[in-house]
Amino acid sequence: MEFQSFLIKYAEIGTKGKNRYLFEDALVHQIKNALKKVEGTFLASKESGRIYVQAMGPYDYGQVMEALQRVFGIAWICPMLQVEDKDFGRLKETVVDYVDQVYPDKHFTFKVESRRADKEYPIHSEQMNRDLGERILEAFPDTKVDVHKPDVLLKVEVRKVVNIYSRMVPGPGGMPVGTNGKAMLLLSGGIDSPVAGYMVAKRGVKVDAVYFHAPPYTSGRAKQKVVDLARLVARYSGPIPLHVVNFTDIQLLIYDKCPHEELTIIMRRYMMRIAEEIARKNDGLALITGESIGQVASQTVKSLAATNEVCMMPVFRPLIGFDKQEIVDISQKIGTFETSIQPFEDCCTIFVAKHPVIKPNLERIRKSEKNLEGKIEEMVREAVDTAEMIWCD
Ligand code: ATP
Ligand code: MG
Repeated sequence: MEFQSFLIKYAEIGTKGKNRYLFEDALVHQIKNALKKVEGTFLASKESGRIYVQAMGPYDYGQVMEALQRVFGIAWICPMLQVEDKDFGRLKETVVDYVDQVYPDKHFTFKVESRRADKEYPIHSEQMNRDLGERILEAFPDTKVDVHKPDVLLKVEVRKVVNIYSRMVPGPGGMPVGTNGKAMLLLSGGIDSPVAGYMVAKRGVKVDAVYFHAPPYTSGRAKQKVVDLARLVARYSGPIPLHVVNFTDIQLLIYDKCPHEELTIIMRRYMMRIAEEIARKNDGLALITGESIGQVASQTVKSLAATNEVCMMPVFRPLIGFDKQEIVDISQKIGTFETSIQPFEDCCTIFVAKHPVIKPNLERIRKSEKNLEGKIEEMVREAVDTAEMIWCD
């Protein structure tokens, strides 16, 4: 059957009551955005508390499903048959035809669940259930009714038009992006940070990103990899403005003036400071990193505390309790893994010490950072001011 319409069901509404429309509007907006990339013309709209997508001509079913399955806030996608003719006699035949086309093998149990949203409609829902069920049994004697655990739950809703559907394809869940402010993702070329961005976007947060680039120590290809990753995350989060910060001078200064076993921590503290500054300039409310406890020396609890100390904004670390394999599993699911494992150097890997501290002493770190005073302030300002913005869509 060629479905021309889809009913979009959402489960979790963070903002109930009078803010509900904000949630629905954001969802419609994100659906439209996702469908822009699919060939064909589509109409997404809300109507009495429901969201519909309508194809206005030929389209590729698989592509539409794939696009909708990336829109956060969607719990279920139900392809449906919509008919304007409400005449019950003809409706019965339409339903039979629907069942025939959607289920070539007729060995299944079913239940009809009708709803009469149009209260003027002369036939009550109970009666509709009975009559439609009877007609299906008559047309397909191999089918059976099972009201408790049917294989097929057939919904027939009489509204302005009649909606007939029985298939429910799971969506990604979460909340529509744009319903919960904006955060700045520290995006490296690794496996973790794209996953972290995905997870926070899933809760309805709009994501901007910042990448610390250290040419010529890190190549143009390393930067391209980060752009590619931002684009992959953007398939879920919507377009991501990626701020590319030139970090070379700051790294060299730190390398020159600070004990080498503290390089990573001090470098990470400057990344956080700069990311926060850029976030503030762009109305961001929080930072996001791909850190997970104990994964590397810079992610022991002491190191995380040392990194965190310089931030005023909340730092979201959605992967904090995840094992590496769990993170890898998500990155494979969302399609970032293959790009993340491309072998391009990261600015951190070039400047890392052979034996980084795993229990940084905050007093000592602060003291080491004193060696940077007089030069670092200007460098930080310049790094913020000269960041290049790349639109990743
Ligand atoms: P990832 O896989 O995300 O690169 P990682 O395991 O390599 O993480 P680190 O290199 O310690 O861990 O980085 C921790 C976090 O710091 C990253 O998840 C990311 O959020 C941020 N980060 C590290 N390097 C950069 C960079 N060059 N630009 C932007 N953010 C970075
Ligand atoms: Mg990394």
